[in-house]
Order: sequence, then structure tokens, then C-alpha cells
Amino acid sequence: MTRRPGRLVLLGHPLGHSLSPRFQNAALDAAGIPLRYEALDVEPSEFENVVDALGKARAAGNVTIPFKERMHDVCDVLTPLARRVGAVNVFWTDDRDRLVGDNSDVGGFDAAVVGLLGVTPRDMTVGVLGAGGAASAVLAAVETWEGCSAHVFNRTPERARILCERFRAVARPVDDIGVVAGAQLVVNATSIGLRDESYPLDPMLIAPGALVIDLVYRPGESAWTRAVRARGHRACDGLPMLIEQGALAFERWFGTPPDRSVMWASLST
Ligand code: NAP
Repeated sequence: MTRRPGRLVLLGHPLGHSLSPRFQNAALDAAGIPLRYEALDVEPSEFENVVDALGKARAAGNVTIPFKERMHDVCDVLTPLARRVGAVNVFWTDDRDRLVGDNSDVGGFDAAVVGLLGVTPRDMTVGVLGAGGAASAVLAAVETWEGCSAHVFNRTPERARILCERFRAVARPVDDIGVVAGAQLVVNATSIGLRDESYPLDPMLIAPGALVIDLVYRPGESAWTRAVRARGHRACDGLPMLIEQGALAFERWFGTPPDRSVMWASLST
């Protein structure tokens, strides 16, 4: 990124639950950057038109559900990581007015795991629930970890099979959720628990000593995160990943890291 964006936006639908405007605006204020981070709830039928107009405004921003794959398809330039994941969650307009798509969910997930474990995973088994864009970002992180491999369980088995085919060096689809529960790191990459207190996996099934990450985040943490921690597991919800993907996005837009402590503090006020 070599010039300041004309606008900074979050594209999604619906956007009611997003915390990104709060912590991104706090980081912009702290850095003295005179821009507002705007949440744009975009009708799916309008997505391409909105992106076109944003390109003309030299916009940058984030993309969330359900547009990450569509953004991947409309960007003029993709980073190798965005191409690998097949989804774009951060974008900007470059000096040649090209829309550039990247993926900071991978780095966000990696940082959340390192925050929980203390080091980069090595020789670990990873159990993944879900086979959408978030699961793809998880597998893109797993393939960078030495000696690690993943088992993927999904409600729609065919989707798990197709995803694992793309990451076949490290990932295998499974039709028994117990295999995921027996992993050393268990990840919920489904949207179960986003709108209610339901669990993606019975906490009693998770192997003793396993680390657990729920990509879902909710005020006061997801019910599943609280339940697995109550059973003695080291666990976090999706908030550390959300903040870190946002911090990495900020770096892409402005070429300088945000104050992460300001981002965290903005969510506790
Ligand atoms: P997605 O592409 O729509 O995939 C959704 C996944 O959830 C699919 O595997 C789907 O299974 C599964 N699922 C949904 N409802 C289900 C149910 N009732 N029972 C079983 N499986 C169900 O969404 P995504 O982009 O991967 O996001 C998944 C979750 O990760 C969301 O909650 C999102 O908020 C979270 N996320 C968090 C962060 C973060 O920074 N913390 C970043 C990205 C995503 P089928 O294939 O069978 O439909």
C-alpha cells in the first residue's frame, strides 16, 4: 500500500454483530489518521456494483460473510495467500487503481493459536469442524506448521472432501466427529454458537489436554468456549483472531502497525 485510501469500509451482510468498526476507529484515532472505518451492509445483489464504486473511490477495507469468496473473484490482483485460501478478507486499491485482495484471517488464526500455546505448533494433530472459508484459512495456517496435520469434519461431507483435496498434503476429511474430538488442537470453524448457546461438539468428547479455539465470538465469549474451559482446556473464542486479522489489515492499508493495546481496550469500554 503506497497511498492513503479514499475510504475505509467493511463489506458484509448482515453486519449487526461486527466489532471491527469499534477497534479499527480506535486504532485510526490513536494513529492520528483522519479516516473513519465504515460498516457497509451490502445487499448481495448489489455487491459487484458497490465494489466497482469503491474502486473508483480508492477504497480499502475488510470483507466478511458472505462476500469473501466473491471478493476473491472480482479482485484485479490476489496475493498468493488469498489465492491459496480462495477468499479475500482484506483489500485495497493500488497505485495503478487495481483492486488488490489479500487474506489476514490466516495470520489472525496463527496468532490466536500461538497466543494460546506460547509457540508455533509443531507435530500436532488439528481437528477442524467446518469446511467453509474460515476452515480454509485454518488449513492454510496448518500447512505452514512443521509436522502438523488436520482432520476435517463437516455437516455436508462433500464440502469437507473438496476442501481437503485442495490441502491434501496436510488435511483428510473424516465422517466420525470423534476423530476431530481426539485431536491435540480442536477448532470450531462452523457458525454454530454464533446466534445461540449451542455447541459444535460435546465438550465431554474432547481429549484431555487438548487446546480449543472457537472462531465464533460473542459478548462474554461463546458458550462452547466457556464450557470447554470449565473442563480444564486452554481455550479462546474468535476475538483474538478477529483483532489480529484487523491489525494485519491495518498494516496492509497504512504500512505501519496499529496500537494493538488500543484495539483491545476499545472493546472493554
Ligand atoms: P461459511 O463459509 O458460511 O461456512 C459455514 C460452516 O459452518 C460450514 O462448514 C457449514 O456447514 C457450517 N454450519 C453452519 N451451520 C451449521 C449447523 N447448524 N450445523 C453444522 N454445521 C453448520 O462461513 P465461514 O466464513 O467459514 O465462517 C465460519 C465461522 O467462523 C463463522 O461463525 C464466522 O463468524 C467465524 N469466523 C471468525 C473469524 C474471526 O476472526 N474470529 C474469521 C472468519 C470466520 P455446511 O457446509 O454443511 O453448510
